[in-house]
Amino acid sequence: MKREENTNETPTTTGTCKFCGQSRIIKTVGEVTQQEADEIATDECDCEEAKKHHNRECKIKKANEWAKLRFENTPNVLQIFSIAFRDVTNHDVESVTIKEGDWTHKVFLNSDGYLTVKSGKKVDEEVDFA
Ligand SMILES: [Zn+2]
Repeated sequence: MKREENTNETPTTTGTCKFCGQSRIIKTVGEVTQQEADEIATDECDCEEAKKHHNRECKIKKANEWAKLRFENTPNVLQIFSIAFRDVTNHDVESVTIKEGDWTHKVFLNSDGYLTVKSGKKVDEEVDFA
């Protein structure tokens, strides 16, 4: 890790975009690892793959914010959603189905590429006459 120490200036380090391999000087606040520096460089890079990556991260972030509100009382379920959002967005799996209580949630990418959660509730009706 290259790091230029100069007390009079903002410390900088060199990070490398993990998609196109382009290096850039980034300003750092405090100590950053090379991995963090590379992530920042990837975020700031404007190559096509980095943009796609940024879009994916954006989708995952929005989905997680939604799940946080919806499942704030069930952290275990929230955790599963968080993994599902990442795996589906990264195309590791096509879809994830999560069942909790009467609800069934399916996480998938729709035809427009939006990260989608489709939720359905099991409705059983029973009428007994004795
Ligand atoms: Zn790049």
